Amino acid sequence: LVHAVNVTKAFHGTEVLKGIDMDVHRGEVVVLLGPSGSGKTTFLRCINQLETIDGGRIWVDGDLMGYEDRGGTLHRLTDKRIAAQRRDIGMCFQRFNLFPHKTVLENVIEAPRQVKGVSKGAATEKALELLAQVGLEDKPAAYPAQLSGGQQQRVAIARALAMDPKLMLFDEPTSALDPELVGEVLKVMRDLAQGGMTMIVVTHEMGFAREVADRVVFMDAGVVVEEGPPAQVIGNPQHNRTRAFLSRMR
Ligand code: ATP
Repeated sequence: LVHAVNVTKAFHGTEVLKGIDMDVHRGEVVVLLGPSGSGKTTFLRCINQLETIDGGRIWVDGDLMGYEDRGGTLHRLTDKRIAAQRRDIGMCFQRFNLFPHKTVLENVIEAPRQVKGVSKGAATEKALELLAQVGLEDKPAAYPAQLSGGQQQRVAIARALAMDPKLMLFDEPTSALDPELVGEVLKVMRDLAQGGMTMIVVTHEMGFAREVADRVVFMDAGVVVEEGPPAQVIGNPQHNRTRAFLSRMR
């Protein structure tokens, strides 16, 4: 579903992604691990076209992201076409960024209503199903400030799912939460994975990586250092950099 080839990205002359290759198959859950500054967030943002890449190519479901290939030369797509590509990719961040003046239900129906033109009735019906799926069936009328961080993050997940994404990107979705709220969010993500959602997850939650990931990709300094099943990468890392990182995590 995701096919990234030799992706490079620099900020102010500093190369943050130094040629990333990554394939993610439909229904696969990939956990991205790596030290702070290794480029994990930037890579997710490149997939989702929140950053323009300097080199390489990224396809999502066969679509070349951000560009059109005309006889081997890449031409940047219009903002409108990039927005259309982004519609199919759900993203959850460390900060949930819910609309504070809207209820939970209004937050979840906003994008389907505004972006896809779904009717209020249909959007509401679907939103209530999604809220049940994330364990918040009793909260549609609440405002974000009335919810815990874990509940707010679950609303953010429901909001992303409301657009029927092909792919979900998670960027440290639990790292801003109090420890006792982490589990409820990871459970929703685990259920989503078991339901067949294709997911790329940046997280430091090793238990989640071990139990839920089909594959773990360890990045450091803008390159993929090693990847494989969690038992291999976490259980028996081959590279010193991976070992050093994991020993700091424990
Ligand atoms: P973290 O776990 O800290 O989020 P990360 O692996 O996700 O780390 P990135 O956030 O991708 O790493 O950052 C990689 C490098 O790129 C860092 O040195 C960061 O300071 C730099 N960087 C990221 N975004 C920008 C930007 N918009 N402008 C300038 N530098 C940036």
